[in-house]
Amino acid sequence: MAARCEQRGQPASPGRAVGPLYRAGEPAEAAGPAGSGGEPRAALTAAVERAIAELRALAAKADAESAGILDFQIELLLDGELLAPALARIERGEGAALAFAAAMNERIDEVTGEAGETASETDSEADEDEEAEPDPFALRAADLRDLQHRVLDALAGRTRADFPPGAVYVGRDMPPSVFLAHDWSAGGAIALGAGSAASHVALLARARGVPMVVGLGAVPGDAGDPLLVDGTRGTACLHPDGGEMATAPAPPSPPSSAPARAPVAFPASLAPAVGGPGLFATIDTLADLDGFDPAHVDGVGLVRTEFLFTHAAEALSEERHLAVYRRLLAALGGKPVTLRLLDLGGDKALPGLAEGDPAAVLGLRGVRFLLAHPDLARIQARALMRAAALGPLSVLLPMVTVPAELEAMALLFEEEAARLARQGVEARLPPLGIMVEVPAAALTLDLFPQAAFFSVGTNDLMQYLAAAARDNPAVAPLCAGAETAMFRLLDHICASARALGRPVSLCGDLAARPEAAGRLRALGFDGLSVPPGQIEAVRAALAGAAPNSPPGRG
Ligand code: PEP
Ligand code: MG
Repeated sequence: MAARCEQRGQPASPGRAVGPLYRAGEPAEAAGPAGSGGEPRAALTAAVERAIAELRALAAKADAESAGILDFQIELLLDGELLAPALARIERGEGAALAFAAAMNERIDEVTGEAGETASETDSEADEDEEAEPDPFALRAADLRDLQHRVLDALAGRTRADFPPGAVYVGRDMPPSVFLAHDWSAGGAIALGAGSAASHVALLARARGVPMVVGLGAVPGDAGDPLLVDGTRGTACLHPDGGEMATAPAPPSPPSSAPARAPVAFPASLAPAVGGPGLFATIDTLADLDGFDPAHVDGVGLVRTEFLFTHAAEALSEERHLAVYRRLLAALGGKPVTLRLLDLGGDKALPGLAEGDPAAVLGLRGVRFLLAHPDLARIQARALMRAAALGPLSVLLPMVTVPAELEAMALLFEEEAARLARQGVEARLPPLGIMVEVPAAALTLDLFPQAAFFSVGTNDLMQYLAAAARDNPAVAPLCAGAETAMFRLLDHICASARALGRPVSLCGDLAARPEAAGRLRALGFDGLSVPPGQIEAVRAALAGAAPNSPPGRG
């Protein structure tokens, strides 16, 4: 019998789960981007070759029917006609991923009869029933989409390996895209050798109720060994004994602290108290909609749209964006929804478009990335403006540093609005606000009169203020130590926003800390946006912090 062994790390997402150990597959990650020489034509050709090799390997193990489908896909990839439009785009100067994704989107539109982007077609068809392509074209379109994803993954140097449902993921760190691609409904947990409780993947784990521990160092054990993760205490236990197992719950599928539509003590219209900030939900994935009752919040204060799409092909499809935004607006039933433009770069990767590069937290990230890739920004802008015609939608720009970035993005929206108008597509220019998460912007809000509103991202603001990476546990104490600097800056931000007459809310993790609610209320924030699992705790804290609050209310 194997020895029981407990390791201590830091808690990153509460809850306990036990499951078979899955060690993150270094071989796939070490493969590197296909055709990594940087020349787009060679990169695309190499990615296609890699995709063909993957499909052949799959076909060799498949039953006759599946092998037939895979062979059909291989034939499509071998057919030069499929690649020609992408190569033509590359000749015109586009990057490999954008060129391939856009050319495939056009091909898929041809197959499904959606080409030509006539207003009435695009507006009325691609919504509630986005899978409603007619047979047999739907099958062909599905093959093309599948190939599109596979080649884009190959371009990004990833294989689409997932890990078994219910397993405990063990690795040095975990890319958000791997978290998002996995089905957590069967339970499971995350045990990381390094990582940080402030990382994006930790935010996702907390929102989804997946237990997670970081900073464990080397985690022993073989694939399949039972591993218990206690995300509340920050421990991992290999081969837990009977006692440990008895206290570990069955698969923790629902968010551990989410109210799951439980009735709350008083309606949102009363919450938290007269004059206090509004309470909004933060959404990372559509699954988060199940974690709160829209009737009991004032709206959605932040949608991290970069987490809504797991493949470049999805992020490059205007119809896909629109379908997701429609669902969000419908779920909120007329309450305001603030969507943030794709905040790609840094650790937020989208295979084929933005590769995970921690160094990029000081580089091409957020609005910088989008302005460098205007084709992508235009796709999202058009979808947002079409959705804005359907409900109260606002748009947030991530990582803004100087007013010129807001001006450039506002111009891009205006140009696309004019294009939609020419095409007769119903659309509305939404209010554009900025994330306040770069110190240079935080100190100069008076220079941003063009911003309709402000939303403070304390996660990034703290890392840039303290020069301490949010995903590096070695410098985490500096972030805690710099809290005085942070609150002074928050005071300045609120005063500047008031002077400009613009609403200011806070959507970083600080908003979700009940013990901070009183100070944030006193600073005069108009809104707090928090993950679904924290809404009730923050509501109670705000009510308790209200001047003359009746004892026990909430
Ligand atoms: C933030 O930086 O506080 C924020 C809300 O954005 P993200 O965590 O997605 O970077
Ligand atoms: Mg941020």
